[in-house]
This record gives sequence, C-alpha cells and structure tokens, in this order.
Amino acid sequence: MLAARLVGTLEASVAHFLVSTDQNLGHLETQLQHDLQALLRETLRRAAQAKADATPPRCPVCGQPLSRCSSGHARTFQTRFGDITLERTRGYCQRCRQWRIPADAALGLDDTTGYSPTEPTAEEVAKEIAYLREPQARMDYRAGRRAGEPLGSGAVEATCRQAQCRFKRPGQFWSTAGDEALLCLETFWHNDRWSLFFPTRPSTLQEIEMRPQGAKGRMKA
Ligand SMILES: [Zn+2]
Repeated sequence: MLAARLVGTLEASVAHFLVSTDQNLGHLETQLQHDLQALLRETLRRAAQAKADATPPRCPVCGQPLSRCSSGHARTFQTRFGDITLERTRGYCQRCRQWRIPADAALGLDDTTGYSPTEPTAEEVAKEIAYLREPQARMDYRAGRRAGEPLGSGAVEATCRQAQCRFKRPGQFWSTAGDEALLCLETFWHNDRWSLFFPTRPSTLQEIEMRPQGAKGRMKA
C-alpha cells in the first residue's frame, strides 16, 4: 500500500514537471528525492511506533513489570530521513526506583539525546563544523596563489623544527624572557641582519659575509 502511494506521488510530480514551463530537470530530481524521503520517513515512523506499541511494560534493566504506566509520552527524534515523533509508554520500576520507557530501550534510543542510533550526535557535528570553520580565513588558496604566497605548511614546519632543534637540547631549560631574546637573536643571525643589532662591529659582519656557503643557514650552537 505504501509502495502504491509512492508510485502515485512520483507520478504526480512527473506530471507536474511536464506541464511546468519554469521547471528544469534539476527541479524534478529534487522533487523526486523529496517524495522518496517523505515516504521513507513515514515508513520508519510507522515501524518505530508499531515496535514501541508492542514492547511489553517491563523494566529494560531488571525485567520487573512496571507500575503506574501511562501512554502518550511523545518524543521527537532526528533520523536519516528527517524528524519523527513517537508516542511511548512510561512506567515506574519499583526495584530500580526509576521511571522507565521500555520502547526507547527496544528501539535503541535510550542514550541518544534526540537522535536515532545512526545519526551523529550534535556535539560530533558541532566539532566537525568548528574544525572546518576555524581556519576558513586562511584557506583562500586561490587568492594566496595569485599573491605569490606559498600554499603549503612545509616552510613553517621546517622553521619550527629548526628552532626546536636549537632550543630543545638535552638538559636545556628556558625562561620565557630568555627564550624570546635568544630566538630573536637567532632569527636575525640567520637572516643576515646581525648588523641591525651590532652596527659598530663591521669586522664581524664581514666574517658573516665570508662564511662558506655550506655553513649558511645552519644553526649555530
Ligand atoms: Zn528495574
């Protein structure tokens, strides 16, 4: 009967598409997807409700029959096919001294806050979104390439490694002030800007210029 309903819905969408001058194939694809989704959601809801109704009013933890049972406790769940709302029976387990909803346990909805068991939790989704959003401003690779900027992180990683080799030697400990001062000196040294610190020492500058090529860019202890 549901299959017949789906065929009817799909055929109606196709008929509407054929007589509409403002609908292209993309519109029809979206509509058919929507029709199918609605039917899948309804199938899922009916099946879940039937299973909830057939679940005996026993405590899912200890098996004790529940007392003070009342039906019609609605709860909406997000599923792969959209939101569905179920009505469940709630009862009190005198052995556990807890209110229980056996249908939630039978459907695997116990510990999922508003989601079906296949859906990722809201926290997981939020984490992934933040992971993608946070560096978004730095991810305009097209603009970077146009400006002639390096796109890879290799240069920065290599520089970090180089600095670490200099400052994380066995037995070394640094205060923030000392570490920053020496890092600054090291950076000036490697960029051949030593003269900015020591303008009155030309002989040393000359030595820097006369360093053999192989020694250039290597860290000095
Ligand atoms: Zn119990």
